Amino acid sequence: MARAPKFLLKLKSNLSFPRFQPLSIRGFSSSAPIQSQLEHVGFIGLGNMGFHMANNLIDAGYKVVAHDINLNAMKKFSDRGVLTKQTPSEVAESSDVIITMLPSSSHVLHVYTGSNGLLQGGNHLRPWLFVDSSTVDPQTSRRLSARISECVLKEKKGYVDTPVMLDAPVSGGVLGAEAGTLTFMVGGLEEAYIAAKPLFLSMGKSTIYCGGTGNGSAAKICNNLAMAVSMLGVSEAFALGQSLGITASTLTKIFNCSSARCWSSDSYNPVPGVMEGVPSSRNYGGGFSSKLMAKDLQLAAASAQEVGLKCPFTSQAQEIYTELCKAGHEFRDFSCVFRHYYSGKDEI
Ligand code: NAD
Repeated sequence: MARAPKFLLKLKSNLSFPRFQPLSIRGFSSSAPIQSQLEHVGFIGLGNMGFHMANNLIDAGYKVVAHDINLNAMKKFSDRGVLTKQTPSEVAESSDVIITMLPSSSHVLHVYTGSNGLLQGGNHLRPWLFVDSSTVDPQTSRRLSARISECVLKEKKGYVDTPVMLDAPVSGGVLGAEAGTLTFMVGGLEEAYIAAKPLFLSMGKSTIYCGGTGNGSAAKICNNLAMAVSMLGVSEAFALGQSLGITASTLTKIFNCSSARCWSSDSYNPVPGVMEGVPSSRNYGGGFSSKLMAKDLQLAAASAQEVGLKCPFTSQAQEIYTELCKAGHEFRDFSCVFRHYYSGKDEI
């Protein structure tokens, strides 16, 4: 297990430091060394989520350097006067902290360890903290963290001489990213989590420390597994109810004041016409795509297999979402399972 760098141990033992207060980077002064360690943020992956998250950091006063392989995504930032770089290693050269928000494990590994990757500096790295907010498997987070802890900083930051990594995936979707209301599930050294909290709270409303490295990623895939299975359960029950002559609206009313109540029935109802403002009310547009859900279920299935745990619902859910994607619904919100797998009917 990686040891906490000395400056972080000092932070933990310093009771006068406002450990759980969001700190404004604007208020930085030489008497607040931790804040200066967070001032220059490199952000990589400016897609649906990362675009908003990086913007929220800029609005909070951080000096952001941005990178994406998609030039159009970068242009949105350079047009705003934000510094952009052509490669991850160039981003690393001008950042104290790196945040990555990439599609999957292979992209993350490429950005960190590929040619011109973030770790290219090896023994001369500038960033002391790497935060990966992508949804990946815990094993990837743990391997990457171990690899990062072998690197050495170009210059000590305070007392730090070895970089650290936090896995910090998010929940809340694109709307949460835009509104700055994401939830961060964070794994890694607790001292680094405490130091990075102001960053998280500039992009989200809550942060939960999950334990050692990889536990943030584990929490995220468990959350999405439970969400997929409850969405399938509710959709299956609504479709059966319709076939037995009960409308989905009636069943929704019953579920929501009975034991079947859950997020899929009371906040994200999958039946078009039952609830306003959710993806099912706009032809399953926006929201959380079936493609991403299939990816997350694949991560859960692989993790279950790795630890030898029997998880029949995971396998079944993975099969259903893979089938939905193959049938051309990969970009529809994952609640489309009601219409496109169960052949459920819209409410009039
Ligand atoms: P996205 O595909 O919209 O964005 C990913 C970005 O990464 C793209 O702009 C892409 O060009 C960029 N990218 C890919 N490879 C790269 C590379 N080698 N170098 C630099 N940039 C690269 O994905 P997203 O919806 O923003 O999701 C990002 C992550 O967040 C995923 O892991 C996803 O599972 C997770 N997530 C998404 C949501 C959601 O609702 N979209 C919610 C929670 C978590």
